[in-house]
Amino acid sequence: MKIRTKITLSIGLLLTIITLFGYYAAQTTEHIKLNTENILADNYNSIKYAQKMLWAVHHFEEDQALAATTFDENLSLQKRNISENSEKTHTQQLERQYKTYKIERSKENLISLSESINTIILLNGNAIEQKSKSATDIAQEALVLMIFFALLCVIIAIFMLVRIPQALTTPIQKLTEGIIEISNHHYDKKLSFDEKSEFSKVAYSFNNMAQELAQFQQSNMARIISTKQYLEIVINSIDEPIIGLDNQNRILFINHIASSILNISSEKMLGKSALDLALTNDLLRKLVQGINNEVSDAPLKIYADDKESYFDVHYLSLPENSGIVIMLNNITRFKELDKAKTNFISIISHELKAPISAIMTSLPLLNDSRIGPINEKQSALAQSISEHCDCLLSISSELLKMTQVEAGVLQLRPKITKPIELINYAIGATRVLADRFNCHIEIEYPETIDKLFVDSEKIAWVITNLLSNAIHYSSDNSRIIIGVKQLEHNIDIYIKDFGKGIDPRYHKTIFDRYFRVPGTKVQGSGLGLAISKDFLEAHGGSIRIESEIGKGSCFIISLAKA
Ligand code: ADP
Repeated sequence: MKIRTKITLSIGLLLTIITLFGYYAAQTTEHIKLNTENILADNYNSIKYAQKMLWAVHHFEEDQALAATTFDENLSLQKRNISENSEKTHTQQLERQYKTYKIERSKENLISLSESINTIILLNGNAIEQKSKSATDIAQEALVLMIFFALLCVIIAIFMLVRIPQALTTPIQKLTEGIIEISNHHYDKKLSFDEKSEFSKVAYSFNNMAQELAQFQQSNMARIISTKQYLEIVINSIDEPIIGLDNQNRILFINHIASSILNISSEKMLGKSALDLALTNDLLRKLVQGINNEVSDAPLKIYADDKESYFDVHYLSLPENSGIVIMLNNITRFKELDKAKTNFISIISHELKAPISAIMTSLPLLNDSRIGPINEKQSALAQSISEHCDCLLSISSELLKMTQVEAGVLQLRPKITKPIELINYAIGATRVLADRFNCHIEIEYPETIDKLFVDSEKIAWVITNLLSNAIHYSSDNSRIIIGVKQLEHNIDIYIKDFGKGIDPRYHKTIFDRYFRVPGTKVQGSGLGLAISKDFLEAHGGSIRIESEIGKGSCFIISLAKA
């Protein structure tokens, strides 16, 4: 049944009962009222008239006139007030007896009159008693009926109070539960309400919607599964390791090569937390740490199958932080080539040193008069050869240093050193050069400077290289400042020139191997700054540049104090 019909019927029934109840109450009250009025009008008045007639009977002998008048008056009133069955007969009998009495005023006639009057009184008295009893009965009956109706109304009202809200809330509750189920992707949820209920349409639409969503999900699932299979084939066909993580760092996918270098089967990893797996797998730990850039971007070294392999690790963030893809690029072959190159350069530079040194030792002999005189042109040529030899020697020694760094065989022999010792060494080593270009070197050295704990040979080489660059890349007669700054934990050594400066766009690449600012005319290898950076980093220090074109450059090296 429809809720609306239920409400209409219940209220209609309640209204009908209340109306009937009201009508019955009005009727009964009216009835009781009429009964009371009747008693008053008929019986009570008859008793009143009879009593007055009785009074007259008792006073006929004392006051004939007054008694007769009273009797006549009340008899005529009584005659018009007949209400009971036998009352008329008795009244007529009384009238006849009165007429007899008027003819014969005897005591017996008076007694007969009194008896008839008393009969009328008794008759009306009985009628009053009976009518009052009947009114009481009606009232009693009415009371029972009214209680019955009131109870009926209360029952209907309670029924409405319980059933109607229930009839409304139950479907709403079912609907709410259904919506929650759907939102949890449980599309098999169905709603069913009474066919005639208003909610049957809602249930019908809901079930339709759930069915369509289920179909949509199934088709989507099919598409997702086929896309997943397709992706799996693609990923597994790539011979570089690939691992996909979701935003909770759970492993979404992993290709064969990745699971083989991690040495865990993909079945054991899929869906598992990479962080948990990383607890027992060093390689995975390194990869996971890299997500938050906790490790440097140096190539990842993996030792597997009795050989070393090197991988570049790339982290690709998925849109809206939904996960991350870790891609490893095998660079072992390049590493091997690089190593071969480093070995080659190392051998060449080492082998070159001996012939260059031999040339340099032989050159002064050319100028020796004992060997024979040489002319001015020959002397100038010998000078040029000497300079080029210097250059070759410095390049080959730089190359050798670089190969040492690259081969990882750089050995530091640190000792407590005063910064001024390093500065003095560098100034001494570049004096000839500075004199040649007439450069004026100023020292800024505060009174109290802490000591350093460094390999003085390496750091002195760095400062010498920076000072030599400052001289080379400044114009003649210029100033160069070399100074030291004491900081809380570090000591900064700076070499400042007022030369042509370096374009800020090269400030990063200037420390790369073989990089030279385009257009640089001074001879060089482009290795000095790269080696300086390596030396400083090996000490846990750093190097940076502050420079503007036309204003000169300032190289600052920073080292922890001892
Ligand atoms: P090299 O000096 O042998 O070329 P470096 O690594 O020492 O190699 O320097 C790299 C390049 O940086 C140089 O070629 C030069 O162009 C630039 N450079 C270095 N120092 C200075 C400087 N003080 N002023 C201007 N340019 C400089």
